[in-house]
Amino acid sequence: MGDYFQTIVDLDAGEAEAAELAERAVAWLVGEGIVLADRKVCVLGQPLGHPPGPHWSRAVADDDPDGEPSDGLAVHTGPTVFYSGQDEPEAVTCPRCRVTTDLSDEEEGAWPRFSEAITDWQDTAHADVTCPACAREVPLSEWLWTDDRLAVGRLGLEFWNWPELSDGFRARLAAVLDGHRTAYLWGKL
Ligand SMILES: [Zn+2]
Repeated sequence: MGDYFQTIVDLDAGEAEAAELAERAVAWLVGEGIVLADRKVCVLGQPLGHPPGPHWSRAVADDDPDGEPSDGLAVHTGPTVFYSGQDEPEAVTCPRCRVTTDLSDEEEGAWPRFSEAITDWQDTAHADVTCPACAREVPLSEWLWTDDRLAVGRLGLEFWNWPELSDGFRARLAAVLDGHRTAYLWGKL
């Protein structure tokens, strides 16, 4: 079996607004009955999370056969690099020139640059990577990851051992987050 998680990352949350957006998102989830307000031990990687609420099924696909969620919601705020737990990302696209850089090509050697920037981002919440194609300095948080293996942001909602979250739920949650761009990562430990 193992434990699996689904993380919805707000890609646009700024430094000053991440905590407020997290509160708003949790308040909405509690209001919908998707999770409970009182936290307890029900997630991995954090001491406490929000357990599933009476209407948890509002977050998942109608015909989902996976059964009930067995754990809760962990809320991450602050500069975080979220991984799916799969391999390293294979490619990333520059938001300025739209050229996609292959990260799996070791001769090209682009991955170490991003890897270094990821470390810097976690430490300082700021890192630029020079685009190999157009040579512009682009903030790490603006690069477009072409697979769902990595996301950089200041707010992540991580559901542990829930059935698959529905597209509709993710869209409603994004609307609560001021219509911000979101990433959806799925992983397994
Ligand atoms: Zn570029």
